[in-house]
Amino acid sequence: MIDLHVHSTFSDGTLTPEELIQLAIDTGLNAIALTDHDTTNGIPRFLAAAEGSPVKAIPGVEISADSKHGALHILGYFVEPGSTALAEALHRIRESRDVRNREIFHNLNRLGLSLNWSEVEKYAGEDVMGRPHFAAAMVGKGYVKDKNTAFNKYLGRGKRAYAERYRPSPLECIDLIKSAGGVSVLAHPFTLELSPKQTRSLLSKLRSFGLEGLEVYYPAHDAHLTREFLNLARELDLVPTGGTDFHGEGSPDIKLGSGFGGLEVADETIALLEARRP
Ligand code: AMP
Ligand code: FE
Ligand code: FE
Ligand code: ZN
Repeated sequence: MIDLHVHSTFSDGTLTPEELIQLAIDTGLNAIALTDHDTTNGIPRFLAAAEGSPVKAIPGVEISADSKHGALHILGYFVEPGSTALAEALHRIRESRDVRNREIFHNLNRLGLSLNWSEVEKYAGEDVMGRPHFAAAMVGKGYVKDKNTAFNKYLGRGKRAYAERYRPSPLECIDLIKSAGGVSVLAHPFTLELSPKQTRSLLSKLRSFGLEGLEVYYPAHDAHLTREFLNLARELDLVPTGGTDFHGEGSPDIKLGSGFGGLEVADETIALLEARRP
C-alpha cells in the first residue's frame, strides 16, 4: 500500500517530514509522496529521513493553477528540487501568498476577528502559510466553531476576508513540472464540481498540455465518482493515481495510506508514473 498525496509542516500538514516517514513505517506503507503546497523545501529532509528505511520516499509538490472552473490543484511527482525554473516559480507564488496573507490578516482584524501575526505563524510551521492556518487560528480563538465555518464565512473565494493571489495557468504548471523532470497529475477532481462531460473536456485539454495522471482514488470520492474518474483516466490514457491528502491534525478523520479507512492505492502506480517522466 502507498500514499501519493501527503502534506507536512512545510505547508498545511501538522507532521514534520521525519514524522511522516516514521508514521509510514509504523503503518506498514511501502511508499509515500510528499506533496506540499507551493514548496519543495521539505523534500531534502523527507528523502534523508527515508534513507535506509523500508519506505520509499517520492519527492512531489502540489501547485494551485487558475482556471475558469476555480483553482485546479496539480500534483508534480519526481520533481528535482534543484530545478531553477520550478524553484523560481514557486518562489514567486510564495511571495504573492505573503502579500495575500497580509491582506487576509488585515481583513479579519477589520471584521473584528483580531489575531496576532505571530499566532497565525505558529500554526504555519516551517514554510508556507495559507488559509488553513488562518482557519486554525480562528478556531483556536473561538471565533468560529470549526475550519469549515471559517472558510464558508470568511476565507473561501469571494467571502468576507478573502484576498486573491497569483496562480499560474494549468499549462504553466504542467510545463514547470516537466522542466523539473516531473510528472503532472490532476488532484481531487471532485472539488471542481463539474459534470462528467465538463470533466472529460477539461481533462482532454490538460492531457494535450502534458498531464499524465488523474487522482482517481481519494477519500472524498465515493464508489460512483471513483468509477467515473477511472473510466476517464483509461479513456484519456492518464495514469490512475491516488492518495489521502493527509494533513495530520489538520484533518483528523483522514489516516495516512487509508483515508477514511477503505482507500487502497496500488504499489504499481509508482512504476506507471515513473514511466511517464520526460
Ligand atoms: P491557500 O492555498 O492558502 O489559498 O488555501 C487553500 C487550501 O485551503 C486548500 O488546499 C485546502 O487544503 C484548504 N481549504 C479550501 N477550502 C476549504 C474548506 N472549505 N474547508 C477546509 N479547508 C479548505
Ligand atoms: Fe492543504
Ligand atoms: Fe489540494
Ligand atoms: Zn493536498
